[in-house]
Amino acid sequence: MPTATEPPIASGDGQRRREELKAVYEQARACTKCPQLAAARTTVVFGAGNADADLMFVGEAPGANEDQQGLPFVGRAGKLLDRLLEEIGMARRDVWVCNVLKCRPPGNRDPQPSEIDACQDYLLRQVELIEPLVVCTLGNFATKLLRADITGITRLHGRAEVRTIGPRAVRLYPLFHPAAALYTPRMLETLREDFARIPELVALPEPPQPEPLEERPEPEAEPEPELAVPEPELAIEVAATREREQLGLF
Ligand code: URA
Repeated sequence: MPTATEPPIASGDGQRRREELKAVYEQARACTKCPQLAAARTTVVFGAGNADADLMFVGEAPGANEDQQGLPFVGRAGKLLDRLLEEIGMARRDVWVCNVLKCRPPGNRDPQPSEIDACQDYLLRQVELIEPLVVCTLGNFATKLLRADITGITRLHGRAEVRTIGPRAVRLYPLFHPAAALYTPRMLETLREDFARIPELVALPEPPQPEPLEERPEPEAEPEPELAVPEPELAIEVAATREREQLGLF
């Protein structure tokens, strides 16, 4: 069983994949980009499963159980996810499961846009490293983030489409969130029907991948202009300008 202290990555061809994923996990574990979430969390819930998986599930955010155990989808919604996987002949060890947010929002409130923004690099790196063929978004938050569009899950569920996530083209497959289906029998039926199509999606050939960005040589660092005795205000302004430039890269 995966433990909360180590990212639970199954063995496979990807020694490099595993090492890089561990490095991303270490970054996430020390992350304080969302001070409120960092202060309230018990653990960072990075993701769990098979790092060589063709199939990835992306939920919303850890709840209380996930925060305690450091693993995604371990509460009631997780038990339903297990059951749905079993019905299509799969198990957690075959897939990678993670969330939009890696930390629990206090009181299980909705993720805030600034938190989604701050956390999304971890998810993009997971997609880049694991290289899934199919990414199932569970519910609105994951669907809206990975489609970069506000269209809701009620319209989109069960409709696979090829989408580029970071450097990787995948078949994106929006599904109702299992937590929502727990309380609405009709939604559960629909989720089950949508799940039944997953094996055929995973069996499709990999979608054509975008051209990799050309490796460009690092530009020579410009020597910093000497500021004789920086005035405090000026020093702050220089720092703020650099930060704006960094943010502009993304
Ligand atoms: N548990 C998770 O890990 N994610 C969710 O979105 C809901 C429950």
